[in-house]
Amino acid sequence: MIIHNQIYLNILNIWDHQFSSQTSLLNAQANSPLTRNIIEYLILYSQSRLWTNDIFFTTKFLDSPSKKLNRIENLFCIMHNYKLDFRFSFKFNTKGGIYPISSYFIRSNQFFNFVKSLKKKEIFYLKQIITADGLFLKTWKEIKGFLTNKKGCTPEWYKYLKENIILNQNNLRLNFDLSPTNIQNPLITRPKIIPQSSNITRIKNVWIAYWCLCTKTVIFGRVVEKNHFYNYHQTITFEHYTYIPESHHTSNNLTPRSRPTYLSKCTGCVLSENNIYNNNTLHTCYITSLSNSTIIINVSKSNLTFPNYKKPIYKCIKQFTTIQ
Ligand SMILES: [Zn+2]
Ligand SMILES: [Zn+2]
Repeated sequence: MIIHNQIYLNILNIWDHQFSSQTSLLNAQANSPLTRNIIEYLILYSQSRLWTNDIFFTTKFLDSPSKKLNRIENLFCIMHNYKLDFRFSFKFNTKGGIYPISSYFIRSNQFFNFVKSLKKKEIFYLKQIITADGLFLKTWKEIKGFLTNKKGCTPEWYKYLKENIILNQNNLRLNFDLSPTNIQNPLITRPKIIPQSSNITRIKNVWIAYWCLCTKTVIFGRVVEKNHFYNYHQTITFEHYTYIPESHHTSNNLTPRSRPTYLSKCTGCVLSENNIYNNNTLHTCYITSLSNSTIIINVSKSNLTFPNYKKPIYKCIKQFTTIQ
């Protein structure tokens, strides 16, 4: 029963111990006038190797040390895992963008081939390949238009991005938000963020709403699942409900602002996605959206009937105008 012996317990901590001394050594070296330049050089070397202006950002995209990284790069990677900070007295400034594109495929085993192609094409920032509003991936044709060398077919890295960072293949909507609306508003509750995992979590009895820029309407929905994949913002998939513009005679005596919003199930619209759900014949419209761009709303089943809408009808206490 050696394992349970107090003396041997420390064996399990050897890795932890080694790691913590290595990180403190790195921090010390980065801040000592004698070794500072070397660390700076190593970081710049790594940044050029990994085609990034922010090695700390890029290494965040890996969950664990990787063979393709060198020792110092892996150390950063582990530090993220342990939620440790770097206290470096220097900062490198780069112009032209914020997010280095290479971060988005550091998980691929084709990473260095992708980097080679990007270097040749002078593509460095995510900004160069997404739309100005930061919401969509540009088509390869659009990206090519800006390149000096317009020859060649669709590169493999573009295909990889399409498979990995896109929510909706029809409109190339990105599955993360570059400027998440994290402004705290006490009147607004956003869906709870679940721990990062590769599993999908089923959700019941949660309703959301948000203003959709593309259709210029408020989108209502009953959440069916949450997906919070590693290093991505949480997304939610919901059944789409549309608001019934006609007012019900029972609320005619109320002012428009205090009339409740009635909802009916959408049976399919331009926003419907080609996902596993929509391949069925249930005539339900499923949409996936970024969790943080939606708000929680209170919805209850209603017994009212509307001549042009199928039952069930739901009632949302929150006024349509306040969501807008
Ligand atoms: Zn939209
Ligand atoms: Zn719909």
